[in-house]
Amino acid sequence: MKLQAVKGTHDILPDEQARRRQVLDAVERVLERAGARAITPPMFEYSEVFDKSVGESADLVVQKEMYTFEDRGGRQLTLRPEFTAGVLRAFIEHGMHTLPSPVKLWSTGPLFRAENVQRGRYREFQQVNLEIVGLPHALADAEAIQLMYAALTACGLRNHHIRLGSVGDPEDRASYNAYLREQLGPRSGDLSEASQERLRLNPMRVLDSKSDGDQALLAGLKRPFDMLGEAARAHFDEVRRYLDAWQVPYEVDPAIVRGLDYYRRTAFEAHYQGIGAQSALGGGGRYDGLIERLGGPALPGVGWAFGLERVLDALEQEGAAPGADARPALFLVPLDDEAVAEITTWAIELRGRYRVEHAYQPRNPGKGLREADRSGAAFAALRGSQERDQGVVQVKHLASGRQAAVAPSELGAFLDRELAEGLGA
Ligand code: AMP
Repeated sequence: MKLQAVKGTHDILPDEQARRRQVLDAVERVLERAGARAITPPMFEYSEVFDKSVGESADLVVQKEMYTFEDRGGRQLTLRPEFTAGVLRAFIEHGMHTLPSPVKLWSTGPLFRAENVQRGRYREFQQVNLEIVGLPHALADAEAIQLMYAALTACGLRNHHIRLGSVGDPEDRASYNAYLREQLGPRSGDLSEASQERLRLNPMRVLDSKSDGDQALLAGLKRPFDMLGEAARAHFDEVRRYLDAWQVPYEVDPAIVRGLDYYRRTAFEAHYQGIGAQSALGGGGRYDGLIERLGGPALPGVGWAFGLERVLDALEQEGAAPGADARPALFLVPLDDEAVAEITTWAIELRGRYRVEHAYQPRNPGKGLREADRSGAAFAALRGSQERDQGVVQVKHLASGRQAAVAPSELGAFLDRELAEGLGA
């Protein structure tokens, strides 16, 4: 058997690393400036943590999307399929409710879901996640949305937008679920198998179905948004007022329902046109009640997550120039054996400041320069017996061909001067 990566997983190849890091750095700046602190829960938890939080009707459960296994001690463990449950479990375990409110926590790292693999839908993928815990007010919802929009903008995206909806309060959800049962019950045989299960456990979730047949049955039916109670409606209007005041672009989308059972009131998604059927970059909402369900104090929360791969895909669609990738400042070429030892010593010194590469064997000048070119370096430096006699290296600016003889001890200062003038480009 030819060994290869498991279906739905990807190697993150060297060429992709710089862009990924850049995006994460930009996101980190936005979130940390807003007072969010990083938290990294473990990759796996007792299955209970996720079972309790996502709810029995969640797709993750209904469609058996969680990677659950028994360890050697007979414990049921699950690879994290989302961040919220683990982050809130940690919040409770470490008594973070005593911190000044609100507590803002952000996370990034791989998640695992046994999904049907397609473009933008993988079995291992990465999310950026934010939770704002402790505030029941619309201000927290609005800030979460603003931060999601700002984080995506900081990634370099231009054509993303927010869709905003509300799933109402628990009473509103209950009456909506009754309405759906009434409407879909007689036709439930026409629903997909997963949606029949959803209709039984939590009808609202049928709205989330990816099946065209299910969606056809739903056409013309009311959405939760059409049946909001007064309190949920007032909360929604207040979120909108903040977003308007802060000029965060959004559109009201009555069709938005969030995948997990625990959402209340505000639900939102970030979308990007042109990354195929999976246009959602991320989503989030308010989850009052979840912390209690996990055994913690009765604290409200609002949070979101977006998928890193989808953001990277969208950035590629926008033709965003690959960021300042790691190009060497200097490529050193030894022309004889003695020079190999010399240039490696200089490389190690210069690496305190610059990215420096070199050939590992003596080269003739033509081949050495071609190699330097291929590395993407700004400058190449040649060292052979002639240069040794003169106490220099021959430095060549590869883009212009301009040359200079530089003393080895002056190489650092030379690069400082030249690269400050923008010749690295
Ligand atoms: P969710 O946690 O299901 O609300 O998903 C939030 C975001 O994570 C989605 O909008 C996607 O960008 C990303 N995402 C979710 N599931 C996957 C997956 N299987 N593969 C890649 N990205 C995903």
